[in-house]
Amino acid sequence: MSSPSEILARPLRYLKGVGPRRAADLERAGLATVEDLLCRFPIRYEDRGHFRPVAALQPGQAASIAVEVVSCGLRGTRRPGFKIFEALVRDDTGHARAIWLNQPFLRDVIAKGQRLVLFGALEWRAGSLQLTNPQYEIVRREDEAAAEPGEEDTVHTGRIVPIYEKAGTLTPKMQRALVHRALLELAEAVAAGGTLDDPLPADVRRRRALPDRLAALHAVHFPDAGADVAALNRFRDSGQVRLVFEEFFLFQIGLVFRRREMDAERKPRQVAIDDRVRQSALTVLPFRLTGDQKQALGEIVRDMQRPQPMNRLLQGDVGSGKTIVALLAALVAMENGLQVAFMAPTEILADQHYISIRRLLEPSRFRVALLTGATQAKKRRELYAELAGGSVHLVVGTHALVQDPLSFHELGLVVIDEQHRFGVLQRAGLRAKGLHPDVLVMTATPIPRTLALTTYGDLDVSTLRESPPGRRPIKTVVKRDSRRDDIYGFVRRELDKGRQAYVIYPLVEESSKVDLKAATEMADHLAQEVFPEYRVMLLHGRMKPDAKDRVMGAFARGECHVLVSTTVVEVGVDVANASVMIVEHAERFGLAQLHQLRGRVGRGPYQSYCVLLYQLPLGVQGRARLKALAETTDGFVIAERDLELRGPGDFFGTRQSGVPTLRVGDLLRDHEIMEDARREAVACLDRPEHAGALATWVRRAWEQRFGLVGVG
Ligand code: ADP
Ligand code: MG
Repeated sequence: MSSPSEILARPLRYLKGVGPRRAADLERAGLATVEDLLCRFPIRYEDRGHFRPVAALQPGQAASIAVEVVSCGLRGTRRPGFKIFEALVRDDTGHARAIWLNQPFLRDVIAKGQRLVLFGALEWRAGSLQLTNPQYEIVRREDEAAAEPGEEDTVHTGRIVPIYEKAGTLTPKMQRALVHRALLELAEAVAAGGTLDDPLPADVRRRRALPDRLAALHAVHFPDAGADVAALNRFRDSGQVRLVFEEFFLFQIGLVFRRREMDAERKPRQVAIDDRVRQSALTVLPFRLTGDQKQALGEIVRDMQRPQPMNRLLQGDVGSGKTIVALLAALVAMENGLQVAFMAPTEILADQHYISIRRLLEPSRFRVALLTGATQAKKRRELYAELAGGSVHLVVGTHALVQDPLSFHELGLVVIDEQHRFGVLQRAGLRAKGLHPDVLVMTATPIPRTLALTTYGDLDVSTLRESPPGRRPIKTVVKRDSRRDDIYGFVRRELDKGRQAYVIYPLVEESSKVDLKAATEMADHLAQEVFPEYRVMLLHGRMKPDAKDRVMGAFARGECHVLVSTTVVEVGVDVANASVMIVEHAERFGLAQLHQLRGRVGRGPYQSYCVLLYQLPLGVQGRARLKALAETTDGFVIAERDLELRGPGDFFGTRQSGVPTLRVGDLLRDHEIMEDARREAVACLDRPEHAGALATWVRRAWEQRFGLVGVG
């Protein structure tokens, strides 16, 4: 007899009722093993504890009925295009009517002679009992063939029934039958003396009043008759909570492990702060730091004085002043004889950082260099030598800095701007080279509270909430693009006052010729017909680096008045005199991206404006995004809204970003469980008796379940 663990690990084709074809199909739907199947939770539950006989139905009540379709069809209504699908159904006791509004596809789903389970509220309509838009399940013939004798009564009806989402050819009913058999096999194995290993230590389970694994699996798929259906449908039944907790717990243990590995590292040298360092910082500081900036700098410098490498995230909305904080940290490192690498996501941004850092460091004795893809081979070789020799103190570049065969004299600090584009990989890359510098990651995409425990669970976080003094909130308006001429009139008035404007054009892909043509035509049109007296220039990602430089330079110096650009200006570009931004096709952009774009204006003392032009049709999501932007300029609020609209999976986009692929938990719905799991994980690892067993579980879970780069 197989052990329970062996049963869980078994490919689904060994389960009774699953042939090779079905198994292949399930595998395509992501279900390879029995455990995969059992971790695919029902999406909701129906109390079919007792089907009501149709004759006993009362209007005003909700009920489940098991019926056969007598006749059905689609009919029109007086409203053009609005159709009703109607079915006359019966059981042994009587007839009822079910209608579905505006779901014409049901014509191809429900047919005469079918057996249906319907669930919904009843009302009297036109002299007969009617269910309007009931939930339905078709009792399919193929399922009946697959069902074992007797299963029909115990599994699919007569109880609280789990409803699954269809997966490939796996119908909800089929999954129900397979899950039932799998659980039966598990129960038999346990009855024969096997035990199902449980990653949750017993004391954690006791403290949290969580059932053991087997009981939880049963309760999730086949709740007891007494279970609370409402709680189940909110995913708050103890069995559900237990399995979600388990998943989060393993994830958090992994984070703690990773954190400990990092804490075991030692950087080349701790820095020291003395009056000379403080004086040096004051010399370069062009303004007074805000309270938040001071606090963040304090946290960073404290980290730099410790023997372990810093791993800190500096989050703050666009324009909150992260750069100067990073630069002061860089100064501390350099005053201590260490070198600094400053990495930006794009060449344009690297250029900008280079220009402003060089300006700020003018009064100091430190040498700054720029290293990008555009750096000539000869210059590049010289730079390599100077970095290795230590005569260049700070190098600004793109992420290629880490990939390059660079060697430093003594690298003490790495600053990474815009973390979400880089990810955790840079840190790994540095470590692989045997370097253990302090790492400061900056992001203008604030991490929603709900994700902070996952993505950056192993980072320390400093936050800039207040913006530098004198800023006025940007005014944002949303307009149909038919209002374009009014908007141009408004832009002209700003230009006449001496301000500058951005016109952003979306490129689906930075390389798409069609879009590029549209952006080019837009620039020509603005230059020749709309603003002939002003200088209009075009910037896009396919331009040669030196051409980009010319355009950006002209705009920064105020020689170009209107910059038509693709989203290459999205991050970090800083021209304080620009006061208007028009975003064309705003409906095509994501929320975070629009917020980033908008942050290009409002960087100086002038009242600034952002005009979001949209074209119809505008979907529900598009409308919600534009509304959110018009309502707030607070990046933290926007990040939360973005997460709600897109879901955690799409929020960051890449796997490397550290968001685990979850099977049972939901970061939004189960946020509090994540917090509990975090607390328990930290507490557990303080007790060595748990650490060994957990390490094995965690290593497996991180690779196989969460799809994340590993824990050591
Ligand atoms: P971000 O956080 O988006 O990277 P920056 O570091 O580019 O923001 O800062 C935005 C602008 O605000 C810059 O022009 C910078 O010089 C200015 N700034 C930053 N901190 C202050 C401050 N404390 N007082 C005045 N201006 C500041
Ligand atoms: Mg910045």
